[in-house]
This record gives sequence, C-alpha cells and structure tokens, in this order.
Amino acid sequence: MAMSCKEVWREVSNYIDGMIAPEVREELERHLAQCRHCTAILDGVHNVIVLMADERLFALPSGFAERTRARLEKEFKSVAAAHSQDGVVKRTVEIDFRARQKQSRNGK
Ligand SMILES: [Zn+2]
Repeated sequence: MAMSCKEVWREVSNYIDGMIAPEVREELERHLAQCRHCTAILDGVHNVIVLMADERLFALPSGFAERTRARLEKEFKSVAAAHSQDGVVKRTVEIDFRARQKQSRNGK
C-alpha cells in the first residue's frame, strides 16, 4: 500500500490546484481508483472550489451554500467515522466556506 488515506487528504488541495509532483499524483490517483472514501472527499472539495469560482459569474440561489455545506458536513462525518481520522480536509473546507461567505458579504 503506497499511500495512506491521510496522505491523500493532505495532498488533495495541491492535487486539485495541479501543484503536485508527477510521481505523487500517480500514487494519489492509484489510491483514488480503489478508495471510495477518498474519492468522496475529492468530489466534495472539488465542488466547493467550483462553487467559489462560479460565484464570480452569477449569484447562487439563496440557501444553496448552506445546503451544500450541510451535505458536505454529513459526508465528512461519515467518512471520518469510517476512517476514525478527521482534520485536514474538513478544516480546509470550513476555512474555504468562511472565506467565501466573507467575500460574498463584501461584494454586496
Ligand atoms: Zn483513501
């Protein structure tokens, strides 16, 4: 087993940003291919980034972000329970949401 879930979670934002060494990327993708927990996390983090980018183009329906956040929190809770590890990725997403909400308030 090359890469643990925890290592994947630590690298996931670099992976999405494309700021990752090719050999690490290869290991990460190999892990993702066989780990549905990490696939779920990657999807969740990716959704947040897409939402943040989209907000610059059009306003989201009211309540959309809250619903998404609730869904993500539920997702992370089940993943964390499965792994009995929590932390880096969940914290990253919470910080992202805070930054996004601040940005949203300033823009209006
Ligand atoms: Zn995993």
